[in-house]
Amino acid sequence: MKLLVTGGAGFIGSAVVRRAVAQGHAVVNLDALTYAACLDNVAAVADSPLYAFEEADIRDRAALDRIFAAHAPDAVMHLAAESHVDRSIDGPGTFVETNVMGTFHLLEAARAYWTAQGRPESFRFHHISTDEVFGSLAPAEAGGGQFTEETPYDPRSPYSASKAGSDHLVRAWHETYGLPVVLTNCSNNYGPYHFPEKLIPVVILNALAGKPLPIYGTGENVRDWLYVEDHAEALLLVVQKGEVGRSYNIGGENERSNIALVRALCAILDAKRPKAEGSYADQITFVADRPGHDARYAIDPARIREELGWRPSVTVEEGLEKTVEWYLANEAWWRALQARDGVGRRLGTG
Ligand code: NAD
Repeated sequence: MKLLVTGGAGFIGSAVVRRAVAQGHAVVNLDALTYAACLDNVAAVADSPLYAFEEADIRDRAALDRIFAAHAPDAVMHLAAESHVDRSIDGPGTFVETNVMGTFHLLEAARAYWTAQGRPESFRFHHISTDEVFGSLAPAEAGGGQFTEETPYDPRSPYSASKAGSDHLVRAWHETYGLPVVLTNCSNNYGPYHFPEKLIPVVILNALAGKPLPIYGTGENVRDWLYVEDHAEALLLVVQKGEVGRSYNIGGENERSNIALVRALCAILDAKRPKAEGSYADQITFVADRPGHDARYAIDPARIREELGWRPSVTVEEGLEKTVEWYLANEAWWRALQARDGVGRRLGTG
């Protein structure tokens, strides 16, 4: 396929770009290169004849029309977004502009292109979203259950509300205009190239620097972790085999409280890069909670498992170990990003 991937210089988008090229797909990476982008993430494929890069903003309709006409993609995989909940608390406007209005402009550009092509049934607009649109679950012990594709939307942060808005637009463009869309809602990702403002890289890098490991609130918030390469594989499966108009929840069934996750990372670091004295866990520090901090996310991935045969390739223990090894081996990558605006500062205290 010829894939137009938006946000391909970010964390998950770059994993999709690398994997798609490795599988023989042609890829056009469309990215505005915001603070969260890094073209080193796609250096492995930059010289491939299958790869092209377009620096453009999804809010720029004229640029989108030019790119659709120039590359004639078979499918769009839409990952470009503002993605950090803490930043959405400090500056929600950018999240509404990029995640809602940007998705609107991309949908309109895709619709115009698809119409001009004679409305081919094989075209796909794949919208990549998050489980955070479903809100917050009660603990598993209290019967909190898991998010399914039928769970009503109940977003609670500016980030998740803007993603929920974009999901609704994508469904509306299918129902109203017939645009052949598929949607995916995934749980928390981790792995190589994770921008050093998100929990797992913050913990690894602060640990190595001898700095406090900040845990919001009591650390009891539960997330369902998925290795980024397994997410990328699921996305490539959905864009090729997903049923038009349908959404798929993606998750690794790896629920961990934040404190348990951080302790597991500390144990891996203790084994791989022992401190002169004590454990990295000694650096754990509890800090003021995030306003509106969702208690628990958990995905029921039955649909994508049963209908498309997707399975994660690694356990969370294997994935975390691979991730720590990657950060230990790629200091030049993360050092450069630590210099970017806001990284290393506490954001989103409201
Ligand atoms: P990221 O912040 O690492 O990357 C986002 C990319 O989008 C960056 O390269 C950035 O430059 C680009 N971008 C931002 N605004 C843009 C604009 N206006 N025009 C063009 N490009 C723009 O994000 P990520 O963690 O890789 O997430 C990718 C997608 O997956 C997002 O849509 C996010 O909502 C979704 N998602 C993320 C997770 C997660 O755990 N990180 C989980 C589920 C879903």
